[in-house]
Amino acid sequence: MTSDVPVFRYFQAPRAQMSGLARRDVTCSFCDVAGEGFTVDERTSKYGCFACLAQGRFGFFHDTEVGLLLGEGQLESFYDHNEPPPAGFSSRALIELYHTPPFVSIGCGSIAAATRRRILVT
Ligand SMILES: [Zn+2]
Repeated sequence: MTSDVPVFRYFQAPRAQMSGLARRDVTCSFCDVAGEGFTVDERTSKYGCFACLAQGRFGFFHDTEVGLLLGEGQLESFYDHNEPPPAGFSSRALIELYHTPPFVSIGCGSIAAATRRRILVT
């Protein structure tokens, strides 16, 4: 396990709840450093490390209470239960969330339920 893992503001859960972690050490496709990392694209054996994720070199899809985050700042209202973003909402939150590890399973719930707080309002 890497000891200098960046802190992700929008991932406040046990590490075991992190999705996309490779099952073995990998070589990061962005910085060529070997160690713990995420599977970015299984078909092309593309991997990414924690530092490159935190630096915005790749990202992950997220299902949130305000819609599906499909890319950096690309928020799509898809489900009936999606709420509009709150007043004063900063689009920078979506960029930071995109570069945050996903949860193992959110199902039909929300990140707020998984983290017990509204992550996009902070
Ligand atoms: Zn890297």
